Amino acid sequence: MHPAPYPTRPYPTLPYPTRPQPALHLLNGLWVASCPTCGFQLATARTQARAERRSRRRVCPVCYEVA
Ligand SMILES: [Zn+2]
Repeated sequence: MHPAPYPTRPYPTLPYPTRPQPALHLLNGLWVASCPTCGFQLATARTQARAERRSRRRVCPVCYEVA
């Protein structure tokens, strides 16, 4: 028996780049992930999970100009 409560740790912060979450829209049966800031279309997929995963790998070329 443990009289003291189990020590709770703060949720570990993942080394994930701080990017805004892409906005997902369902258009005509197709999931469209777009930049939440400017609305640039990042990725499209048939499923929400796929669109989310694809868009996470992509960075908005409008908001984040890459050479
Ligand atoms: Zn953008």
